[in-house]
Amino acid sequence: MHKKIIITIDGWSSCGKSTLAKQLAKELNYVYIDSGAMYRAITLYFLRNHVDWTKHKAVDEALKEITLDFRYNEHSNQSEMYLNDENVEYVIRDLVVAEKVSDVAAVREVRQFAVAQQQKMGEKKGIVMDGRDIGTVVFPKAALKIFMTADNAIRVERRFKELFEKNPNVTIEEVKNNLEMRDYIDSHREVSPLRQADDAIVLDNTNLTMKQQLEIALRWAKEKIG
Ligand code: C5P
Repeated sequence: MHKKIIITIDGWSSCGKSTLAKQLAKELNYVYIDSGAMYRAITLYFLRNHVDWTKHKAVDEALKEITLDFRYNEHSNQSEMYLNDENVEYVIRDLVVAEKVSDVAAVREVRQFAVAQQQKMGEKKGIVMDGRDIGTVVFPKAALKIFMTADNAIRVERRFKELFEKNPNVTIEEVKNNLEMRDYIDSHREVSPLRQADDAIVLDNTNLTMKQQLEIALRWAKEKIG
C-alpha cells in the first residue's frame, strides 16, 4: 500500500490549476477539492442576501447561515459545490461572482471559516487541493506543493474561451480586467496573500499541453509517494 500524501496547487487566476488538480486526483485515486469554489459560494450568498462584508458583525452572522459541501455528480463525473443544499457549481463561475470574490476572500473571518473546513477535508490525506494559500497556510506541511504560472495573455485567452461558451456577451476586456484585479487583490491582501511557498515547485504551463503538465506533476507526485 502506497502512503497517501497531501498535494497543494496554488497560483495565479486561470493558470489551469483546477484542470491539473482534477486530473492528478483522478490518476492517483485521490479526492480533489476546489477551494476557490468555497470562496465563490460564500460570495454568492453575500450578494444574494445583501451582506455588507466590510462589517464584522454582518459577516459573522451571515457565516452562521452558510453550509458548504461538495457532492459527487455521477453524470458530470466531478464533485460539485453546494451552498445550503443548493447546487451552485455553475452559477459561481459567473463574472458577477468573480468581480467580488477577491474582496470577500480578503475578509479574515471568511478565510477562517473556509480554512477550518479545508483542513478537516485533508485529515485523511489522499487529497489534491487548489487555491491561493493552500501550500502556505492551509497545509504548510504538505508533501508536494506546486505553484502554477503561465503568461498573462494565455491565461486571459483560456478564461475568455471558457466564459464565452456559457455567455457570448462576455468581452475579452472584461475577462482581462477581472484577472488582473483578482491577482492584484489576492497577492496584496493582509490575510494569507497569494505567494509561492518556499518549498513549492514552479510549474509554468505557458508552452505545455494538458497531457505534458499532467505527466510532470504525476512524476513529482510519484517521487513523493514512493
Ligand atoms: O480558484 P478560483 O479562481 O475559483 O478562486 C476564486 C477566488 O477565490 C480567487 O480569486 C481568490 O480571491 C479566492 N481564493 C482564495 N484562496 C483560495 C482559493 C481562492 O483567496 N485558497
